[in-house]
Amino acid sequence: MKLRTKIHLFTTLLMLILLALMNTGVYLLYERLAINTEYEQLKGRGEELLTSFNQLTDATDPSIILRAYMPTDGAVRVLNDEGKPIQSVHASLEFEKFNLQQSKDDTYAKSEIDGVPVIMIETPAIWVDGSVVKLQLIQPLNEVASNADLLKLILVAATTIIAIPLLLSNMALSRIILKPLERLALAMKKSGSSGNYEKVDKAETGKDELAEIGRTFNGMMEALETNYRKQEQFVSNASHELKTPLTVIESYAKLLLRRGFTNEQVATEALGAIVNESRRMNDLIIQMLELAKNKEDTSLSLKEIDLSLLLESTASQMRQAYNRTVELHGGSSLFIQSDEQKLKQLLFILLDNARKYSEDKIIITAAKEEKSITVSIHDFGEGIAQDQIPHLFDRFYRVNQDRNRKTGGAGLGLAIARELSEKLQIHINVQSKLGSGTCFTLLIPYNLEGGKEGGR
Ligand code: ADP
Repeated sequence: MKLRTKIHLFTTLLMLILLALMNTGVYLLYERLAINTEYEQLKGRGEELLTSFNQLTDATDPSIILRAYMPTDGAVRVLNDEGKPIQSVHASLEFEKFNLQQSKDDTYAKSEIDGVPVIMIETPAIWVDGSVVKLQLIQPLNEVASNADLLKLILVAATTIIAIPLLLSNMALSRIILKPLERLALAMKKSGSSGNYEKVDKAETGKDELAEIGRTFNGMMEALETNYRKQEQFVSNASHELKTPLTVIESYAKLLLRRGFTNEQVATEALGAIVNESRRMNDLIIQMLELAKNKEDTSLSLKEIDLSLLLESTASQMRQAYNRTVELHGGSSLFIQSDEQKLKQLLFILLDNARKYSEDKIIITAAKEEKSITVSIHDFGEGIAQDQIPHLFDRFYRVNQDRNRKTGGAGLGLAIARELSEKLQIHINVQSKLGSGTCFTLLIPYNLEGGKEGGR
């Protein structure tokens, strides 16, 4: 059975049952109240009859008294101790055949005469001859019965009238609930069959929970699509980057085959180019692996580090490896909690860029701030145009293709730096002026928030 039909059936049935129960309750309550009122009146009449009965003398005809207190359209009967009627006054002959006993526990007895409901009360009395008799007052409930019938009719009509809008509203309700779910299912089905990232229609407007589910689904699809596109972009960039050195290697290898055995100069040139391109490829693959590893490896090995010592050792390695002037300014004992190896890797990427893209000295400055230690790496190189700065951290992004060919970068260094800084909760600012130089500023927190992982 479809969910729509189930909701429809269940809510309609439930409401109809509730309505029927409520109406039956109203009906029974009315009947009971009406009979109780009749009973109270009958009881009052019986008490008055008993008082008059006690004043009865031999000369008085008891049937006159009985008739005086006879209920409208009803009867009064006097029964001897064997239960046989010795005197009776009644509105119609049916009461003569009527034989009803009231049980001791009940206040009144209820029965029917020719389809008309009657109630009867019984009370002991002293008869004119001194014997103990039973006095029975019988009251037909014609009015109660006709009112109850009318009420029944009204309740049935009301239930029928209410049931129609109820049915329609249930249909509308199940439609309101199920429409967004149907749209969601449709989007999922389409995504599954087409392989595209299909979104749910009309999910942006609603304010309810179902619209929220639709929006969440759309958001999820957008994120998946963006990730997929990025992945696609990465693969295409990576293959492009690998293809270039491979083409160079292939063409030099062919040259070597053709002329290398006879011409030593050509052979040296070809082999030199092949070695260079292989190294380039190797560096590229190491960087790509680094990026892949960084995504998977979320663990940090935190410990207390003296940042001033770390900066000093990194700067001195730079000086020795590349024979460049690296100045370090800043206080000593800059203690932080961080992952030393990752932090060093990050500093290396930025220092290496400063080295690659400038000729002059490099200045590292460290200063204590309230919440973090600021470390800036300043070079006096070619600088970066303002419009390029927002893209620097994208994978394979290079400011200037020719310039980078020369330096051999593939545009992955800063992408790795970004991932490292995210993990270490370090904020990176870039300031640069074309022709004057570039300054990368790191805001390194004293402690990592929330344990082991963070964001940039
Ligand atoms: P690469 O390995 O090519 O250097 P990066 O991701 O490290 O890749 O850098 C991306 C781009 O940012 C490069 O094209 C480079 O030109 C530019 N860049 C990075 N650092 C500097 C700097 N200190 N000065 C000038 N340009 C820089």
